[in-house]
Amino acid sequence: MNLIEKRLDETMAPWAMLHKDSGGRLYHQQPHEHRTCFQRDRDRIIHSKAFRRLGYKTQVFMNSAGDNYRTRLTHSLEVAQVARSAAQALNLNADYAEALALAHDLGHTPFGHAGQEALNHLMRDHGGFEHNRQSLRIVSSLETRYLEFHGLNLTRSTLKGMMKHAQVYECDPDLRPICQQRSQEQPGLEAALVDQCDRIAYVHHDLEDGLDARILNLDDLRGLDFWRTAWQDVLEQNPHTFQKVRSQVQIRSVIRYLMDHCIRDLQDTSSQNLRNLAIQNQADLKALKKSDYPVGYTSLMGERIRVMQDFLYQRLYRFPAVMQMSRRGARIIETLFGEYASLPALMPSHFQIRIAAFGLERVIADYISGMTDRFALHEYSRLTGHRML
Ligand code: MG
Repeated sequence: MNLIEKRLDETMAPWAMLHKDSGGRLYHQQPHEHRTCFQRDRDRIIHSKAFRRLGYKTQVFMNSAGDNYRTRLTHSLEVAQVARSAAQALNLNADYAEALALAHDLGHTPFGHAGQEALNHLMRDHGGFEHNRQSLRIVSSLETRYLEFHGLNLTRSTLKGMMKHAQVYECDPDLRPICQQRSQEQPGLEAALVDQCDRIAYVHHDLEDGLDARILNLDDLRGLDFWRTAWQDVLEQNPHTFQKVRSQVQIRSVIRYLMDHCIRDLQDTSSQNLRNLAIQNQADLKALKKSDYPVGYTSLMGERIRVMQDFLYQRLYRFPAVMQMSRRGARIIETLFGEYASLPALMPSHFQIRIAAFGLERVIADYISGMTDRFALHEYSRLTGHRML
């Protein structure tokens, strides 16, 4: 540990992810003098190739649909911002939360969830495909920028924080002991908080992007109680200005108001739950039953988020033009997979040499899932002679 880490450990809550409990790295490295181990994890994630590629991957709208829509990169930055503030408000480890947030979508395929579903189907006889598991493969093996090791050699705590409980997977051999540990305990508060910040960020931002794209409209939203109430509250708080600004600014003000309430609810409710459970340290936390876990919302807010998710599902994600984009993306992935399977030499040589160790299908999945939307489109044209979109 360095001095900065020691000082921070003294100021954070005893149930926070303390630096002394980081678990070290698989390949031993000396602590940095000026950065904490979690700041260093965060920096390694930001400097990775997989992170840069998130800028050209679909969140809901394809990258080519317009420059103002969220991409996986801007979404990850927004989740990191919310997670950092929420962690700080609860006196947790904000650097650790930030690192987890920035890494949370690294393993996503091109073309959003449709891409993941297509790849999972193609991999059905070879272990499947799942983006959280792929994020782990990226940081522990696929990124190659260091002389001494494959991957980014993140701390064991960061690796563990990236593992989702519902899928404590068949891990790569190096990670197996960490997977096993993770399967026997609850996640750290920061990891659970990042999951909720992801949810908060996407429901509010998809709403905003859907309105900008004119797929959603204000009349639809006026049918929802929480929207009408928030609109009225913002109007009453700003009686002189609200009616004078254009509707886009009104919408952004209402969404900001909603998001702020949601984050405050998460912080206040989680903090109250921690007090009620009389949590003293990390060990108390990890031993809790899943149903008692303290990160959460009031029932009213939980219900509001569910209503928003339902609304987005019905009106945005299943909108014909969005579904059509998804379907095209899935077809591109199916075609690329078939091409590489019949002629592996079509892949770059640094992927081909991994076939002996990981099998042809897993290497194809690694290669395709790392692609950006636009690279996958180029590759589709190159291999088939057809242009898609
Ligand atoms: Mg996300």
